[in-house]
Amino acid sequence: MGLLSKDDYHKIAQTIEYPTMALIDGKMVNSVSGKTFSTYNPATGEKLTEITSCNEEDVDLAVKAARRAFKDKRWSGLAPSERKKVLEKMRDLIIEHKDELAVMETLDSGRPISDIAETDVYETAECIAWYGEAADKLEDQITASGQDIVSMIVREPIGVVGAILPWNFPMLMAAWKLGPILASGNSVVVKPSKLTTLTMLRIAELAMAAGLPQGVLNVVTGSGAVVGEAIATHPDVNLLTFTGSTAVGRTLLEYSGKSNLKRVLLELGGKNPCIVMPDVKDLDTAAEGIVQAAFWNMGENCSANSRLLVHKDIKNALLEAVLEKTKAWTVGDPLDPQFRLGSMIEKPHMEKVLAYIETAKAEGATLVCGGRQILPETGGYFIEPTIFDNVTSEMTIAKEEIFGPVLAVMTFSDEEEAIRMANDTEYGLHASIWSNDVNQVHRLSRAIQAGTISVNCFSEGDFGTPFGGFKQSGFIGRDKSLWASRQYTEMKTIWLKIR
Ligand code: NAD
Repeated sequence: MGLLSKDDYHKIAQTIEYPTMALIDGKMVNSVSGKTFSTYNPATGEKLTEITSCNEEDVDLAVKAARRAFKDKRWSGLAPSERKKVLEKMRDLIIEHKDELAVMETLDSGRPISDIAETDVYETAECIAWYGEAADKLEDQITASGQDIVSMIVREPIGVVGAILPWNFPMLMAAWKLGPILASGNSVVVKPSKLTTLTMLRIAELAMAAGLPQGVLNVVTGSGAVVGEAIATHPDVNLLTFTGSTAVGRTLLEYSGKSNLKRVLLELGGKNPCIVMPDVKDLDTAAEGIVQAAFWNMGENCSANSRLLVHKDIKNALLEAVLEKTKAWTVGDPLDPQFRLGSMIEKPHMEKVLAYIETAKAEGATLVCGGRQILPETGGYFIEPTIFDNVTSEMTIAKEEIFGPVLAVMTFSDEEEAIRMANDTEYGLHASIWSNDVNQVHRLSRAIQAGTISVNCFSEGDFGTPFGGFKQSGFIGRDKSLWASRQYTEMKTIWLKIR
């Protein structure tokens, strides 16, 4: 580990070669139409490159290639220990190219290099290897039956998986899907977000170099409305796995119903609470965690704690500590490791976040820090970390996912009210609790409707823990852990009579 200097990262940026073609049937190819789309650096507004723009025809070619690969068992028929070797090699190649990948993702997404180079590239690599490692340790079952029967429950790869990805953690979200999909023996057609396509294409090249057979991994590039819809409605895709907004997730369920009833796994949005109980003595540590939970990745994070619910007796002291900690979350050139915050993903998204800030003011919330676009001279889309006090449940910023660096502070009087406020949302992805009282922590953890509860920290767990949402934050699926491996397989009962 260890970070390079800003100058080193800028030097790498100047020499980087961008992948621009789709991967279909093991070859990097231009789309059938020959059309392209531009991709931009959100921190400068400058164009990075042109990428091939796929459509329904390209998706069909990719699905056919994936099906051929699945049917002839070039990957699905390998022993899990053989698949493991390829996935471990993939991990090694990702780490070998870590600086290139980190710079590429920073340029494409505006995310700070410090996060990507220190965390995302390693977690991407290790996630893929983790599933490779697990592949030959999963066991099927034999059920209790009479002596003339062998009754087995076995898991088989599901076939061709479609994976549609978001822009907020491009490499890592890809790894959360690809690890269990590939380790389970499936073929896959991936569509990265049009805004952040580059690192997925580069990782696909590295996967081929690692020895993944042709056609097992295909990457089709382009818009959600064309490429995403073509995957989601394709009659020969067995399962669709998606990370993105609740609105698009809803549409994907309809596509499944109208096409081939493909299985659909959805990881969606969040409006996550952080509850701080009055017994917390170390407000400094709590404030550190609260600020990280709100502003990490510019708040472009599905599990961000965007609602701070604090007991009224400690509100003023906690808010003071939070404001102090916020000073460390400096905003600037994403390739400069000194900055903890980079650019928002694109101009329309920055404008959406700024509009939420204006709405909060108009609805009577009190702005206590931030609230503006800064560094406009760079051509980028930077927003200051922003905190509103005196937010009430009916205000828009208390209800809607903002996906920006905006924290809403609200107060409660007792545990019951804290639980009611925490659950007063259509989402249920993640919640944080700060308290030193173990009984209280257990009561709150059980009462809050969310897929992940982090206590006295802000965390999504590790690869061993499932991640996914209650209510409208998800649909059936879980990323990470062995649950994810299971969901990319079909369960089969074999009832064998001995004669
Ligand atoms: P989005 O829903 O706009 O896009 C996600 C993907 O869907 C993109 O690849 C997009 O091109 C594609 N898409 C768009 N319209 C489509 C359509 N009609 N048919 C098929 N595909 C289509 O989401 P986003 O803006 O990229 O990501 C942000 C959202 O993702 C936030 O709501 C965030 O909370 C959520 N998210 C959730 C998790 C999680 O694990 N729960 C993780 C990261 C992000």
